Amino acid sequence: MFLIQENISLKPYNTFGIDVKARYLAEITDPAQLVELQASDLFKTQRILVIGAGSNLLFTQDFDGLVIKMGIQGIVTRLENKSIYVSAGAGVVWHDLVMFCVKHGYGGMENLSLIPGTAGASPIQNIGAYGVELMEIFHSCEAFEIATGKFKTFYAEDCGFAYRDSVFKHELKGQYIICNVTYCLPQPAVLKTGYGAIQSVLAERNITVPDIAAIAEVVAEIRVSKLPDPSTIGNAGSFFKNPIVSMEQFQQILHEFPDLVHYPAGPGFEKLAAGWLIESCGFKGIREGETGTWKNQALVLVNHGHAEGSEVYSFSEKIIETVYAKFGLKLEREVNIF
Ligand code: FAD
Ligand code: NAP
Repeated sequence: MFLIQENISLKPYNTFGIDVKARYLAEITDPAQLVELQASDLFKTQRILVIGAGSNLLFTQDFDGLVIKMGIQGIVTRLENKSIYVSAGAGVVWHDLVMFCVKHGYGGMENLSLIPGTAGASPIQNIGAYGVELMEIFHSCEAFEIATGKFKTFYAEDCGFAYRDSVFKHELKGQYIICNVTYCLPQPAVLKTGYGAIQSVLAERNITVPDIAAIAEVVAEIRVSKLPDPSTIGNAGSFFKNPIVSMEQFQQILHEFPDLVHYPAGPGFEKLAAGWLIESCGFKGIREGETGTWKNQALVLVNHGHAEGSEVYSFSEKIIETVYAKFGLKLEREVNIF
């Protein structure tokens, strides 16, 4: 049995802290409850939106349908061929999962420390940070098909993973409910310390031979110092993706803007730092009404307390237009808009 709440505020269910209402809300703690829910009239007649911790979405209006919050818990591990397979229920808090692995000495996830959200959402945008992407450790996920009520296993090759992207954001958007995710962590893990400020913070701490716990700690420390804590100021992390452009377009922009921050993105492509592009248009740390950009990272849009989703969305439009006018590049939103 599970409770279905009616006309409920979604403010506690999204890290932007946008105060909209859901017509219905159900929290699922067991995959069997989805089967039960699917048999109900509500499931058949209402639009459905699945959420985890609401840390990568922006509500621009009330949701006139059924919101399903995934609360399935549980972590199970097994060792096979020198790899640790870790399976987590969709509702497991991502950082708790990382800390579980660190505590047990299973390397591979430590660079993804302190990313908000749930395990179930981790494949949706192929979460990534500090030089590691989920696709490198993803094995499979079990998902419930909304239209048929059948469970299906998706392996990495089925997921269309790309930079902060997957098939679940496109062709299969809104069609499946991920119940469980299995990660494969080959041991011993190859530690990655060459990204962002990891090396310099390790050096400050006189750590010359870091272990996975040290990396997790350092990543968490850097994140806390740079990023706004959603419990203090509403946000959904990076609002836009870093654009990946052809070498030709990159060279044109670089010619005009030699300070451009950029990184290689595979043969023939270059990744441009969206935060730098936005900052160059004068947006860093500015406030417009109840919204604005974060003082330490212009890529993060914030809610100063009473923003409406539509206000944040309009502000993001303004940023897109301004960046386009200056650089001829159309920024793509990373945050899911509802
Ligand atoms: P939600 O926001 O609840 O949902 C996101 C999308 O996934 C929605 O479309 C939703 O419908 C869908 N969804 C959620 N759960 C399921 C499910 N079980 N089945 C099917 N669909 C589902 N992201 C990064 O990649 N790297 C970062 O470093 C990072 N840093 C962040 C820092 C901050 C301060 C914040 C606020 C966000 C950050 N994010 C980052 C974004 C966010 O944390 C991740 O995208 C996270 O995976 C979202 O998880 P969630 O459970 O909150 O998903
Ligand atoms: P940062 O370290 O100031 O770097 C700015 C941008 O440059 C990042 O977006 C990052 O791209 C890129 N970058 C930096 N060093 C790089 C390297 N050695 N090789 C390739 N690209 C490099 O960024 P930040 O804002 O503090 O974020 C740090 C990390 O956390 C990044 O990986 C970022 O993606 C992640 N993060 C993500 C979100 C989100 O919501 N998606 C929010 C906060 C932080 P990448 O983004 O491709 O890594």
